[in-house]
Amino acid sequence: MNHEIQELMELDKKHFLHPTSPVQQQQQDGPGFIFTKGEGVFLEDIQGRRVIDGMSSLWNVNIGHGREEMGEVAKEQMSTLAFSSCFATYSNEPAIRLAAKLAEVAPGHLSATFFTSGGSESNDTAYKLARHYWILKGQPEKKKIVTRTKSYHGVAMGATSATGLKPFRDFTNSLAPDFHYVDHFSPDALREFIETEGADSIAAFVAEPVQGAGGVHIAPETYFKEVRAICDQYDILFITDEVITGFGRTGTYFGIEHYGVVPDMMCFAKGVTSGYAQLGGVMISDQVHQAFKDHSTGTLLHGYTYSGHATACRVALKNLEIIEREQLIDNAKEMGEELLAGFQKLQSKHNLIGEVRALGLMGAVEIVKDQQTNERFATPLAPLVVTEAAKRGLVLRSVVFDGQDTLVFAPPLTINKEEIEQMMTILSETFSAIV
Ligand code: PLP
Repeated sequence: MNHEIQELMELDKKHFLHPTSPVQQQQQDGPGFIFTKGEGVFLEDIQGRRVIDGMSSLWNVNIGHGREEMGEVAKEQMSTLAFSSCFATYSNEPAIRLAAKLAEVAPGHLSATFFTSGGSESNDTAYKLARHYWILKGQPEKKKIVTRTKSYHGVAMGATSATGLKPFRDFTNSLAPDFHYVDHFSPDALREFIETEGADSIAAFVAEPVQGAGGVHIAPETYFKEVRAICDQYDILFITDEVITGFGRTGTYFGIEHYGVVPDMMCFAKGVTSGYAQLGGVMISDQVHQAFKDHSTGTLLHGYTYSGHATACRVALKNLEIIEREQLIDNAKEMGEELLAGFQKLQSKHNLIGEVRALGLMGAVEIVKDQQTNERFATPLAPLVVTEAAKRGLVLRSVVFDGQDTLVFAPPLTINKEEIEQMMTILSETFSAIV
């Protein structure tokens, strides 16, 4: 390792507190990779190691790395108008055009967007807008937000409070009130909760169309239809968190399209820019928008400095143009089938692989002691698989919450058959090496 790399390793340890990081391990080992370059599904680090980005970094680099035209539009926008505030009645063209574009591609009557800088802000915004909606409708007591066990909605105070995965909530010792969790695939559990608590105390139900950070859990086919009907019956807003599932990830523009229902609000982030800029937002239905138009007499007192950031919105427009031009949503569907077939092949070869699943390019592999019994290891093996796969050229993530021992996958939507085969070869070699 040369002097420059050594210096960066030391500076990282001393000055950089990493997000969602094993602090003591980072202090001991320093950064696992210092990435310097990206191209398509590949990342390259400062030591020249080339790895497949099996997670699209953090489920977000949908169009793949190293797109020059993204840099070009960012440069053009920054050189003319990098940013101007969208507070009050000010606006800018990229924000207007992006809001209009989103209305064109979103399902049903989701036609207006409130912009944020990322997924956590989008979730906090959705909860506040939902509660404000009921205040405007003269029912301020409707304020409880119901989410699901195994859900992940981000790390802002509201988003942490909404997150069903307990370790994220236990990280801090005081959270926002009025958040509740029901079983992640049971419409009956939702109905029971509503009947016990009273619909007149509940503002909204929130769900990820496919649970991502909780381990890629795909809802049964009828789940969201039943949820939509329950929300309608009890006059409760239905909010989907499409932060991961939006913009092609599951083989449709938005994940909820698999289930044939339309939410009242939809959070998005990540894939809207494929990580080339920081942007998120909440789309609201015509009906919710109308309530704001009819009843909002003062100022809508919720807004971020970077709501409607001109450069981020311009980058998003180019990103959506690329997704459509290169038919990446169709590719995600097709390659998702390849990914699942690859998992099944691995499963027949390695006794350590239990259930496998995928919807589009969002997949998971469960690790078990023995396929026949589905028994798990006392200490999860997935983190070791992640470390060993990285050495062999594949970057993945493990999920070990709630007794899970799971590998999760979300490669860029540009991935081809050969690259999926490459991923499977590395995985197979990894499994052979660790038993
Ligand atoms: N919602 C979901 C479903 C997510 O997966 C994430 C991040 O992974 C978030 C919200 C939070 O987004 P961000 O990290 O951009 O704040």
